[in-house]
Amino acid sequence: MAVRTPIYLDNHATTPLDPRVLEAMTPFLTEHCGNPSSKTHIFGWRAEEAVNLAREKVASLIHADAKDIVWTSGTTESINLALIGAARANRARGKHIVSCVTEHRAAIDTLVYLEREGFPITWLPVDDEGCVDPADVEKAIGDETFLISFMAANNEIGVIHPVPEIGKIAKEKGVLFHVDAAQACGKIPVDVEGMGIDLLSMSAHKVYGPKGVGALYIRSRNPHVRLEPILHGGGQEKGLRPGTLAVPNIVGMGRAFEIARLEITAEAARLQALRERLKEGLLNRVPTAVLNGHPVRRLPGNLNLSFPGLRSDALIPRIRDVAVSSGSACASSETAEPSYVIRSLGGGSDRALSSIRFGIGRFNTEEEIDFVIERVAAAVVGAR
Ligand SMILES: *Cc1c(COP(=O)(O)O)cnc(C)c1O
Repeated sequence: MAVRTPIYLDNHATTPLDPRVLEAMTPFLTEHCGNPSSKTHIFGWRAEEAVNLAREKVASLIHADAKDIVWTSGTTESINLALIGAARANRARGKHIVSCVTEHRAAIDTLVYLEREGFPITWLPVDDEGCVDPADVEKAIGDETFLISFMAANNEIGVIHPVPEIGKIAKEKGVLFHVDAAQACGKIPVDVEGMGIDLLSMSAHKVYGPKGVGALYIRSRNPHVRLEPILHGGGQEKGLRPGTLAVPNIVGMGRAFEIARLEITAEAARLQALRERLKEGLLNRVPTAVLNGHPVRRLPGNLNLSFPGLRSDALIPRIRDVAVSSGSACASSETAEPSYVIRSLGGGSDRALSSIRFGIGRFNTEEEIDFVIERVAAAVVGAR
């Protein structure tokens, strides 16, 4: 059977909506029109009930208490609220923050903003496979440190960071721990209790939910984490994130996280098999290709390869019917800047300029992977 093109293989940038999610959302886009803040009629009550059910579904995936979930517009906003909110609310405890050079722009730019506001940041390096050493985290913590911020899994090279080890260090030192889990939720286990996480940022659209909705987990016990809001208004979400709730999107996020929780084990195994098939196929055909990131400690659907001597901005136009990316979509600039994540692995700018990220998702098939192997290998060999 011929595969349908173009093939979507950029599931780290965003994922298509699961039809089951759309089905859950549709009534809330039409007949169930209420505002959950309306307390005087059935429309408001029904909306509030749906929002609370979604809150429980999101909390369940990360082993949290539903009352510790605050709705936002996505991970970028969650990170801003977590980091800026914690910095402003915890000034008395200290001002120093520990983070990492391979964080997503959403975290880096928020931290750079805080740095200008007088909060010193320690930017920890990674090894040549993209991993951070928990011993470096421990060493970086001083008397002034109040916060550690790390991503659970990297959006470019898929590397899974030692979150439980870092969480343990944070607890021992009495430092708050924020985790950017945009790529991890629904792909690998996330457990805010077992992993010592105090703040956790999430998006729906990386997990087959709608774009423009996310959540922040804020621990309320052991310890009670205090944040200063960055938005001001109608008092929704305990005043931490005011504004009318995006009910259809929230319902969609709840359903997306519920599906992810129920299917995570089987889906991870299937994605990993597809990823290994793609990796073996491409390395067989193009033996000079180099793997970026850790061979096994990575997201099941992530493959990132560099094709030495062939710039990705020359390769990508030759594989028009396969949607992949060089570096990250999230930098969203037209400039051909080499990826700072690949550069941080060492190996010079050639490796960064020639890297391709393959993001395999729920709706990709084995036939599509075989097509991609042929297409990419032919383009690489043909370009030489
Ligand atoms: C996508 C992503 C973000 C930003 O999420 P938005 O939904 O665009 O706000 C942050 N961190 C990581 C690791 C991501 O993959």
